[in-house]
Amino acid sequence: MLDIRKAAVIGSGVMGGAIAAHLANAGLVVTLLDIVPAQLLDAEAKKGLTLQDRVVRNRIVLQAKEKMQNPKSMQLYTKTNLERVTFGNLDDDLELLRQADWVVEAVVENLPIKKELFIKIAPYLKPNVILTSNTSGISVNAMSEVLPEELKPNFLITHFFNPPRHMRLLELIPSRHTAGGLLEYVTEFCEEKLGKGVVLAKDTPGFIANRVGTYALTLTIHKMLEYGLRFEEVDALTGSEIGRPNTGTFRLLDMVGLDTLNHVAPYLKSNVNSDKEKAVLALPDYIGKMLAAGYLGDKCKQGFYKKV
Ligand code: NAD
Repeated sequence: MLDIRKAAVIGSGVMGGAIAAHLANAGLVVTLLDIVPAQLLDAEAKKGLTLQDRVVRNRIVLQAKEKMQNPKSMQLYTKTNLERVTFGNLDDDLELLRQADWVVEAVVENLPIKKELFIKIAPYLKPNVILTSNTSGISVNAMSEVLPEELKPNFLITHFFNPPRHMRLLELIPSRHTAGGLLEYVTEFCEEKLGKGVVLAKDTPGFIANRVGTYALTLTIHKMLEYGLRFEEVDALTGSEIGRPNTGTFRLLDMVGLDTLNHVAPYLKSNVNSDKEKAVLALPDYIGKMLAAGYLGDKCKQGFYKKV
């Protein structure tokens, strides 16, 4: 019988950390894992730390912990919900996955990386685990290919929207192998326990929301350039003026992360047929320049806007 009480989230970035917080808010016991950093930071070296020190090995996931604790991020309903979250890394703590009834993958939007991760974690998952991906638009059937046969019926996409605490929409996308009963259970669970409004989508690139939303975002960027507007002017028009306070086009892009846009838009572009759509989904050069300069958005405190 399916009964989610313990969850694990893999990837503690913009979405993973916030999903873990939302699950803790719902009363679940949560493990949050991320990769071990490859290099020491200057500050860590100055303190005499090495790559073997736990605080360094968990550095990425501990940044998510800091964000959860920050009242400004509004991820946790109460500080005590943090007590339900265990933080670890994907080298030392894979055993923790054995306890999880539900494992949510929220790593970088890249099919080979997601596949590699599924291969790595599969031996640690319990037989009746529910395994889901938070991908923005990668094919569920393509990801499912690398799973052991017995895990394929347990896998589907649960696509949360940013920020998960506040965005009600949740897209569910089953693969051709997903067990029907599982889809029903996850729908009910996410609606009743997580407060989501579930929309069932097909396994098409970008599903529903990103198929429309990414196209709208990139079209807006092209129109801004065509009309010689500044991004602040576009935000004034596409934000509060149309009832979306603080989430005009470029404010939203900073929240999403330009690196994530740089994964999502090209993936969609390579999967649509019309040349007109491909042209809209092509990112202008200055996005490449911002990426090269490390202006990824809120996650590094500088995107179109500086985050204070
Ligand atoms: P992010 O860049 O903020 O975080 C990605 C995380 O993946 C990082 O913590 C990173 O350390 C980890 N990672 C990198 N390489 C890895 C590897 N080889 N193995 C394991 N982990 C690795 O990205 P995000 O915005 O949190 O996106 C995560 C997923 O959620 C993506 O699939 C994305 O498309 C999707 N998503 C993003 C948004 C958004 O608004 N940003 C919204 C909905 C869905």
